[in-house]
Amino acid sequence: MTRVALVTGGTRGIGAAISVALKQAGYTVAANYAGNDEAANAFKAETGIPVYKWDVSSYEACAAGIAKVEADLGPVDVLVNNAGITRDAMFHKMTPQQWGEVIGTNLTGLFNMTHPVWSGMRDRGFGRVINISSINGQKGQMGQANYSAAKAGDLGFTKSLAQEGAAKGVTVNAICPGYIGTEMVRAVPEKVLNERIIPQIPVGRLGEPEEIARCVVFLASDDAGFITGSTISANGGQFFA
Ligand code: NDP
Repeated sequence: MTRVALVTGGTRGIGAAISVALKQAGYTVAANYAGNDEAANAFKAETGIPVYKWDVSSYEACAAGIAKVEADLGPVDVLVNNAGITRDAMFHKMTPQQWGEVIGTNLTGLFNMTHPVWSGMRDRGFGRVINISSINGQKGQMGQANYSAAKAGDLGFTKSLAQEGAAKGVTVNAICPGYIGTEMVRAVPEKVLNERIIPQIPVGRLGEPEEIARCVVFLASDDAGFITGSTISANGGQFFA
């Protein structure tokens, strides 16, 4: 039996690279997404990976979506909480809506997705939960009080759950990417990228989505069974947590 991996936000950017890398590593993969049907359908046609649409900020939608994935593919052995959004604003201009949307997707989404699969993982004596946090959850970032708070919360969630899952064969880890060359970052004007952002990165370049995906594949593997509650910082040397 191949293991089943579910990747939230698994149809674009870092998540798409994670879905593909897990498939290449032999997992049966399901990729969740929020609403961009065009990108999801193109991803499905290109990779053969089934896609499932629901909003991770809704507990009911997650429970129903996971039930559908498990009916189609079998119990989820590996959960990658990758879906994330930004609603940037300086704090004095940040609206309750901007705060709420980011906390809802980037932090509450982890509860909503992990809770429905947690008991099954414990009962079967194996599970991997891998949370994609951010360098900005480690160091904070001007204009991202909402995002940084959510991503820092993801790290507390990771460390607490790791302690609860350890004796049951369920590991919980986080990855904190730095600047990765997804659509989001490539949309930044080239001048800003070259003159302001890349000079902050000691390796002198953006990271590639595949470099995050390879961390996920390792953390999902049996080889990583002694690693839990950890954070892998993958940021080109920009910040040491
Ligand atoms: P993208 O914007 O490229 O892709 C985001 C994915 O998440 C899409 O598939 C999107 O679906 C999905 N998504 C967004 N909101 C929801 C939701 N509420 N429910 C379900 N799916 C949702 O993001 P990136 O690949 O750049 O980022 C992936 C993760 O990595 C995020 O958590 C981000 O915070 C984190 N990160 C990214 C960095 C970077 O430099 N890119 C740096 C550090 C961390 P749809 O296509 O339908 O919109």
